[in-house]
Amino acid sequence: MSFNLFHSATIIGVGLIGSSLARALRNKGLVNKLYGVSRSEENCKKLLDLNIVDEAYNSPIIPVQKSDLIVVCTPVGSVEKVIQEILPFVQNKAIISDVGSVKGKISKIIVPDSVSFVPAHPVAGTEKSGPENGFAELFENRWCILTPTELTNRGAVEKVSTLWTQIGMKVEIMTPERHDVVMALMSHLPHLIAYTIVGTASDLEKQEQYDVLKYAAGGFRDFTRIAGSDPIMWRDIFLNNQNAVLDCLQRFTEDLTSLQRAIRHRDSEALVDWFKRTRVIRKELEEIGQAQPENEKMLLKGKKI
Ligand code: NAP
Repeated sequence: MSFNLFHSATIIGVGLIGSSLARALRNKGLVNKLYGVSRSEENCKKLLDLNIVDEAYNSPIIPVQKSDLIVVCTPVGSVEKVIQEILPFVQNKAIISDVGSVKGKISKIIVPDSVSFVPAHPVAGTEKSGPENGFAELFENRWCILTPTELTNRGAVEKVSTLWTQIGMKVEIMTPERHDVVMALMSHLPHLIAYTIVGTASDLEKQEQYDVLKYAAGGFRDFTRIAGSDPIMWRDIFLNNQNAVLDCLQRFTEDLTSLQRAIRHRDSEALVDWFKRTRVIRKELEEIGQAQPENEKMLLKGKKI
């Protein structure tokens, strides 16, 4: 059964996440009217052609005045600027939220008492970007982490939590600091490793590079998928989660050195022990249903992604 949780919503930055959210909100009938904001006329037209929003604007000023929910879905480094730009125009009691992948700095954004800001991170995505690549089912059965502070209006947190639950997510509340540490290991470090490995391949001699790409399978292919993610989004993530990523990287480097030593000294026991330990983690992931990437799930469901 669907109901209008919000009267009207504006999504600013209708890319992969923004357009997936727009599609999910409309599918579930959670908003009466949906407005999309893109900086380019060309993308505004695309949003209407793809029937993602009811109305498209190249500036947020008009739609935010008509909305009781505003979700900023732009890269992490631009979220604060976008919020400061819209604040003079938002309705009384409007709820502003975001979807940024790093929460420390964003969660500290101060808004006037007349509105609420609920920082959020739906932990679901693919390496693709842009509105044409979004899909409503992206969020199904995934976690959405909310990082309110002691200043955040509790009623608004409840409402944003209901929104994500209604489109299929499991919601968890965390401190912004804990969120950023968890994400550094779970998502940011793996991306950094993928960028490094694929970068190393791109520095190889032409013939070697050709062979690596020609026979690409398994591990390397998965790394290229991750390393094909949006450069601006990932630049912003690393620059905004600097401390947690550097801490993780330090631990990773120490572990890598241990493995390096085990290989050099032909220490079979150390290698097998290590690989047995990591295999257990994979099994645990399978058991809790977190092992399959979102895009593979969609392919299995026979959906075009
Ligand atoms: P995306 O597909 O590139 O979409 C972001 C959109 O924001 C762009 O289409 C662009 O639209 C707009 N934009 C870019 N820079 C901007 C700026 N400086 N000011 C205003 N608008 C700007 O990226 P995405 O994957 O949807 O990611 C959006 C947010 O979701 C990021 O904060 C990211 O950290 C978070 N997130 C991503 C994933 C993922 O896996 N992709 C998962 C969870 C959360 P126009 O050019 O049309 O204006």
